[in-house]
Amino acid sequence: MATLKQIMRDYGPEYVQRFGHNMPAHHRKVIDAIVNCRTEYYGATLFRCDDCGKGHSVFRCCGNRHCPNCQGQKTRQWLARRLAEQLPVNHFMITFTMPEAIRGFIRRHQRRCYAAMFDASSQTLKTLARNDKFIGADLPGFFGVLHTWGRTMPYHPPFHYVVPAGALTKSDGRWHRSFDHFFLPVRAMSKIFKAKFRDAMQKDGLASTICPDVWKLAWVVDCRMVGAGAKSIKYLAPYVFKVAISNSRIVKIEDRRIFFKYKKQRSNRWRTMSLEVMAFLHRFLQHVLPSGFMKVRYYGFMSPGSSVSIKTVAESIKHCAAAVSRASRSISISRFVPKCRACGGDLVYHAFILPLRLPWCGAG
Ligand SMILES: [Zn+2]
Ligand SMILES: [Zn+2]
Repeated sequence: MATLKQIMRDYGPEYVQRFGHNMPAHHRKVIDAIVNCRTEYYGATLFRCDDCGKGHSVFRCCGNRHCPNCQGQKTRQWLARRLAEQLPVNHFMITFTMPEAIRGFIRRHQRRCYAAMFDASSQTLKTLARNDKFIGADLPGFFGVLHTWGRTMPYHPPFHYVVPAGALTKSDGRWHRSFDHFFLPVRAMSKIFKAKFRDAMQKDGLASTICPDVWKLAWVVDCRMVGAGAKSIKYLAPYVFKVAISNSRIVKIEDRRIFFKYKKQRSNRWRTMSLEVMAFLHRFLQHVLPSGFMKVRYYGFMSPGSSVSIKTVAESIKHCAAAVSRASRSISISRFVPKCRACGGDLVYHAFILPLRLPWCGAG
């Protein structure tokens, strides 16, 4: 089966040769990481079988956040942490999207725009949550994830927020529950988000380079309830660690064309489209985030610096008579244990072989 690694390995050098002159350094790094993932380049771990004593070596993965091979372990760790901290309420997924007419501008100013989009959208949620008409509490807690792609990998940066259905009042620590199927009005979110983003661009002196029609459009914000407990958290996990295309969606490589599957919005039917391999690589690489940019951010009582712990929030929810307790621990996240290829027994860590290129040698 074709994989992204295979495509990068076979066509990455040609891509770099043809387009390398104006290619950002972090794009090359991603190609290198994906091509060398699970090779001696990243070293190997040696295991010994607990049952038959046979030795095994496993190449280490690159750990790059754009590599489709490397997201499974991260998803498991994230799920375990979120399950340990789950709150006994429903959760909403709120998605902020940017109109097509502004996407070219955002691409040219990625670092600044992504930060401004995070600020504008998180402040929108906080502002509206404080309003007595909706929740009337000044300490919501939520986290946001930036994606930059649509289903066929066009450049389309939406933000997904995951929000427990309510918020806390700082002064008395009381939990204010939101409605079961309504968190905050999407039209109001859209208006405030747009205004805050515009303010940020004006402050940076960039607003004059944006097409003025953009401000006349409605910026789409979507809000849907995704349920409570472990199931909803498991449903949300792929949104956090998705990459622009997974290996399972790549169908085949034929005559320099990559065929891949996608689903249209609100449709469950798989369709196939194909792109010339250089165009495919270009589409994939436009979703590589600026180095060091944090694509998942935690706010309010979910932020690591919050003075209120998740445990305190959970206690407060339990004391709120109206809160619905539907959390469950029915989904367990099992730790990945490598198995012996000879007898199926559990493998035990034995030693580590250093990477081929050591980061402190300045190589590569
Ligand atoms: Zn064995
Ligand atoms: Zn990898």
